[in-house]
Amino acid sequence: MPRDIRQSLSKDNQHCPSQTLKGARCKNTHRANLSNIIHSLDSLMSIKPTNFVQCINDLVTATLCSVHQKVARKELQAWGADLSHVCSIRQAPTPPVSPSNYRIVALADWIRTIGHTDNPSQGAAISVSQPAKMSTPTNVPRVFTTIQNFSRYPIQDSRRSVAESLERLLLRPLTKADISSQGHMYVYWQPGNFGHLKIGRSSDVDRRMTEWVAQCKKPLQVYFPSRGDLDGHPDDMLPVNHIQRVEALVHMELKYCRRIENQCPGCAKAHKEWFEIPHRLAVDVVRKWMAWMRTSPYEKRLSGTEAQWVLKDEAKLRLKGVAQPLKSISIAGPTAKSGRPPSGHLAVSGAGDAKSGRRLTI
Ligand SMILES: [Zn+2]
Ligand SMILES: [Zn+2]
Repeated sequence: MPRDIRQSLSKDNQHCPSQTLKGARCKNTHRANLSNIIHSLDSLMSIKPTNFVQCINDLVTATLCSVHQKVARKELQAWGADLSHVCSIRQAPTPPVSPSNYRIVALADWIRTIGHTDNPSQGAAISVSQPAKMSTPTNVPRVFTTIQNFSRYPIQDSRRSVAESLERLLLRPLTKADISSQGHMYVYWQPGNFGHLKIGRSSDVDRRMTEWVAQCKKPLQVYFPSRGDLDGHPDDMLPVNHIQRVEALVHMELKYCRRIENQCPGCAKAHKEWFEIPHRLAVDVVRKWMAWMRTSPYEKRLSGTEAQWVLKDEAKLRLKGVAQPLKSISIAGPTAKSGRPPSGHLAVSGAGDAKSGRRLTI
């Protein structure tokens, strides 16, 4: 069920509102009783938890064509256990993300969006305006599953905290590839796989997105860089030097949330740049390191006959601060041996929250 279901149906309630794999609206005829559906959507935030799955099920029947009903039911099944818990955090304020509640928070995010009780500008920013504009449909053959299988990415250097790992990486001279690379970071997701984001870099994001769609045979929606008026910063569109190092820093900061898709259903390859985190946090981390690299913290120095790009002295003075992960969520390190869910969901520690008193808002 698309996040912009209300808008789609009010534009046209004679056709299924789902997005096809090509990124366009489904052409199958399905007449929907708009006022009933709006009523059900409005009720999502207030109904009894025990009625929740039934209500979503009824909405699926009332809104989607038979093809998309099947897809939706499969997803509903995959989310069944989480759906029964989502009632506890449907209400604002959203609790901080923890290893045990991450999927539920992501799901609550979706429910708030279609249930429309979220801040309207935020809802629009996440769900409607920019991802829709940035979708890059091409001729995409049909893939049978939209649900991806992720496992935890083997963490290198798992005894070090994120701050320690960042510090070491920051101090490492730039590699040849770091020096010459220039471009943008991007953050996208493949609709249907809540909470999983692909974070990478390219010298040409639009071209890269088109390549990904063609290769993995799925539509994708881009969260960053944002072309929407609501969420975008003017700087987002400017290329950054040493982008390969920026990418390494972003991936390092999020190392405990990293996931691997061992076999992509579209291209059969393994994809290693997935992260299980809220998209706003991903965008914050990406913006932070792009902004930092714009301050030109590295300089070329001669050591003997060889030139090296090293961290400037003034940047070294601020090293400890720069190496701190964002406080809105502290991805501190390998704390939970027992507390982690077996399926390898988010391993994020809330330690930083306690210190800073700040809370993560989903
Ligand atoms: Zn359909
Ligand atoms: Zn793929």
